[in-house]
Amino acid sequence: MTLAIDTKVELNNGVAMPLFGLGTWNATGSLGRKAVAWALESGYRLVDTASAYGNEREVGEAVRTSGLQREEVFVTTKLRPSETGPGTALRAFEASRRRLGLDHVDLYLIHWPGDDRDSRLGAWRDLEKLLGDGRCRAIGVSNYEVSHLREILEAGLTVPAVNQVEFSPFGQRREVHDFGRSHGIRLEGYSPLTRGERLDDDTVQAVARSHGRSAAQVLLRWAVQKEVITIPKSNHRERIVENAAVFDFELSAEDMAVLDGLEGGRRRRR
Ligand code: NDP
Repeated sequence: MTLAIDTKVELNNGVAMPLFGLGTWNATGSLGRKAVAWALESGYRLVDTASAYGNEREVGEAVRTSGLQREEVFVTTKLRPSETGPGTALRAFEASRRRLGLDHVDLYLIHWPGDDRDSRLGAWRDLEKLLGDGRCRAIGVSNYEVSHLREILEAGLTVPAVNQVEFSPFGQRREVHDFGRSHGIRLEGYSPLTRGERLDDDTVQAVARSHGRSAAQVLLRWAVQKEVITIPKSNHRERIVENAAVFDFELSAEDMAVLDGLEGGRRRRR
């Protein structure tokens, strides 16, 4: 597949989702609105927010005033873990949709599995209703382990379109990735820049130097080249542009293998 900033991948219900987009955790207030506006101006077509981020109003406003058609921008938001009681998810969704000021949400995720199986499955049934009546185009989960995904499959419910989990060379979530792939659940990777914590890693730096790119660009290219949906966050215009400039170079099979070798199960240094 030739990758471009507007490359889309097909979810298991046929909906096309951009492979690359903007994360917005810690992008609140007018800065959050500006970050989304800069990203859309730079060609981003996917924006990831959540009820818990406290910025749905600003994200929605930036999308609505971008000059783009609604169908050109893919908006994801998420159900707070505390909102998973019976029927609660439906009310929480409506509150998110009102804050966003949008008719529909493209992808709605359960943000975190929580501790209780019945609450998880109850919330998932609510999300199925939202999907059924078109209030969201796709539904998925986040931070789900294989055991949580199995629960949904074993209950005979709708297979999640997406599982959003942390993903970088330092933490590749291979088990959850392989399980998802074999069941049509697309992996979406968060914290692809390791929240900035591993940008000075020697191996990443060496690959970056060999391509005349930044460490951030190498981490993002590595993720999109694996066709994992990737949502770096920045509140700085120049970084938003830099992070999107990963579609005009390619990592070799050897580069990919070297980066794959960084797997340590976690983003942070021990
Ligand atoms: P990222 O890995 O995207 O890193 C963001 C950090 O890196 C920020 O501090 C940013 O600083 C900095 N940064 C961005 N670009 C560059 C650059 N080019 N060079 C150097 N530093 C840079 O971390 P996130 O945890 O924010 O993950 C991305 C998104 O994923 C979130 O924003 C959110 O939407 C989602 N997410 C989902 C979670 C879930 O539970 N489902 C959990 C965590 C994240 P600055 O802003 O100052 O530029």
